[in-house]
Amino acid sequence: MTSWVFAIVATQLTGTHSGDAFYNQLMGPVIAVANQKGGVAKTTTVHTLGAALAERHHRVLLVDLDPQACLTYENGINPDDLDTTIHDVMLGRVTIEDVIVRANDLDLVPSSIDLAGSEIHLLTKTGREFVLGRALRPVTDGYDYVFIDCAPSLGILTLNGLTAASHVLIPFQAETLSHRAVGQLLETIDDVRAYTNENLEVLGAVATMFDSRTNLGKRILEEVSATHGLEVIPPPIPRSVKVAEAPERGRSVLTHARHSKSADAYRSLAKEIERRT
Ligand code: ADP
Ligand code: MG
Repeated sequence: MTSWVFAIVATQLTGTHSGDAFYNQLMGPVIAVANQKGGVAKTTTVHTLGAALAERHHRVLLVDLDPQACLTYENGINPDDLDTTIHDVMLGRVTIEDVIVRANDLDLVPSSIDLAGSEIHLLTKTGREFVLGRALRPVTDGYDYVFIDCAPSLGILTLNGLTAASHVLIPFQAETLSHRAVGQLLETIDDVRAYTNENLEVLGAVATMFDSRTNLGKRILEEVSATHGLEVIPPPIPRSVKVAEAPERGRSVLTHARHSKSADAYRSLAKEIERRT
């Protein structure tokens, strides 16, 4: 009788907020890499930073939360060859363990174009922002770092990513004055904190495709921190054809051009992330 009552109390507790906070202390960081602007190197940053942390002997899981499935292809995996992907997880058909694949030194939750359809399905569901977070729970203990590659939108999939995360990292292209998207993202993050994930921490921004030869790049770095009160985590990632070439070979710049400046920059960024989480 006593143990039966205890079981009920324990079940109720895990669903409460204090249960969640306790859980968060146990798990490694879950980092959502988000910016609703496309082409700012979200996917590249998830892949390369993940690989850099794996080089440092961390256990890393990458989650592809974009129906375009670029992260999946970049890891040398064709979604057409897979029976199940994150789409099936979001629909509650399978568990996340069922879809994890190994890609070089990383574990990956692959995506496919089908994921676009789960947005519509989720819209009619109660608790729709929490689906990914709940699905990830059973596996986060097995990893030192989990990265979520968000889609270029602020839709329900990205809200799932931000709700599942302990931290958010914001890549922005340091080449154009197009960082206004960052302000809108920060507003969304405030909403997420208010409604679905009050512990979400902004780790900072990452300057990508940086050209140190021009003053524009430096000016943008200063402007991003001044305008948005956001720390730009050093170092900026230099623009390099080596980074752009790597995906079609199914790997990151760390193995494609091991000693390039961009590879070194991502390795330094990995150490900064280690220090801050
Ligand atoms: P997002 O996920 O934000 O849409 P991607 O990571 O797919 O952005 O990057 C957009 C494009 O820019 C890709 O073709 C990628 O290879 C390229 N790219 C990313 N980082 C760099 C860089 N440091 N130098 C040159 N090209 C880059
Ligand atoms: Mg992408």
